[in-house]
Amino acid sequence: MIVVVVLAGFSVVVSQTKPAPRRPAPVRNRAIANIVRDIDARNIEATIRKLVSFGTRNTLSEQNDPKRGIGAARDWLYAEFLKAADASNGRMTVEKQSYEQAKAARVPQPTIVTNVVATLKGSQPEATDRIYVVSGHYDSMCNTPVDAKCDAPGANDDASGTAAVLETARVMAKYEFDATIVFMAVAGEEQSLLGSTHFAEQAKEKNWNIEAMFTNDIVGNTLGGNGVRDRGTVRVFSEGVPSNETPAEATTRRSVGGENDSASRQLARFIKETSEAFVPQMKVMMVYRRDRYGRGGDHIPFLERGYPAVRFTEVNEEFRHQHQNVRVENGVQFGDLPEFVDFAYVANVARVNAASLAALAWAPSRPKGVTILSQRLSNDTELKWDANKEPELAGYEIVWRDTTAAVWTNSKAVGNVTSFTMKGMSKDNYFFGVRAIDKDGNRSPVSYPKPLVRSQPAATPSSM
Ligand SMILES: [Zn+2]
Repeated sequence: MIVVVVLAGFSVVVSQTKPAPRRPAPVRNRAIANIVRDIDARNIEATIRKLVSFGTRNTLSEQNDPKRGIGAARDWLYAEFLKAADASNGRMTVEKQSYEQAKAARVPQPTIVTNVVATLKGSQPEATDRIYVVSGHYDSMCNTPVDAKCDAPGANDDASGTAAVLETARVMAKYEFDATIVFMAVAGEEQSLLGSTHFAEQAKEKNWNIEAMFTNDIVGNTLGGNGVRDRGTVRVFSEGVPSNETPAEATTRRSVGGENDSASRQLARFIKETSEAFVPQMKVMMVYRRDRYGRGGDHIPFLERGYPAVRFTEVNEEFRHQHQNVRVENGVQFGDLPEFVDFAYVANVARVNAASLAALAWAPSRPKGVTILSQRLSNDTELKWDANKEPELAGYEIVWRDTTAAVWTNSKAVGNVTSFTMKGMSKDNYFFGVRAIDKDGNRSPVSYPKPLVRSQPAATPSSM
């Protein structure tokens, strides 16, 4: 089950034992190629089998038994992230983030919920407070989320996502990034997104600048209940209309569109463009919805607080192996067992995550304060934005596409300026965006402009 990643010309150049230099661009590209190559399906298999060995990881299960229950899984994950941090020269720190969840619909008595959080601090002063979060949930369930005793192996849901995150942390800890990356295994997902909600609420209270959040949840099954085997595609769910949209923003959207241009949708486009360049064996299937019908995930608490976020999930699910008591019925095996997980595929999903995170954390921030002058009737399009603060910034690109296109199709480098007019191109006929680019060619995700109503100069008789 070993995937050989062919990256001709890259792998022999850069030593694996020390962090690869970040510049110039070809070296940075080699660094991403090396990160992709270093992700190992054998580690992912070992992690999934270990997590399954705790019998159940239900959030309500035993917290102090060293062998069985969520507490044993929590402590094992904490130790594994600490091991990963060894390679970081002190840049990665690991903590258990705990709180007491009061009685709730799926929590019959007050329960401690613990996230295991590994933070790889960014090294660039201007970027270190910019944060990218990647998570999987390590809790599991059988038929019902309140059964703390049943076996709940949770190999795919969601040891697969947890293993992808741990392996990504292990490989990326060696490298020095400009921005900060948080690798996280959360609990309480099956109890209604408890751990991720706690983290997102803390982030909001502390005013953290989270520019993107990825959740990996059910990323290991490649033979669907529909009989389709697909080992080369991963779904990326992104919402179009932001969960925290204001009434004023809704009015604008109804007037001039933008329902396909949330920050989360731009993030999905960035992931597709970046990861398909570095992980050519994986196709990113963008799905234009927040999540599947009747389902939710750990990206939602982030979206509700205004943070761009997406969900990674396999393409064809097998519901006999999710949220099921382990049993055989009429010769059919039910239950979320490791024998149904495609470890090489999970490794490829981890590679998609890692390539995207590395590209984000080495690139400048997406431009802020991007506006499109909306009031003047004109066949030109005037865009303005705030200056980025990164020292190696080279400038900006205007991107555009037909209003019916799924991805950005055109771009124009406009230099290190904070406004630009696209002559003869009407804002009524295209969607426009702006992205930042540094001297090494690293590009940020695209920012979609808000309409700017220019304050009118005081009317004078001559101007009337
Ligand atoms: Zn799940």
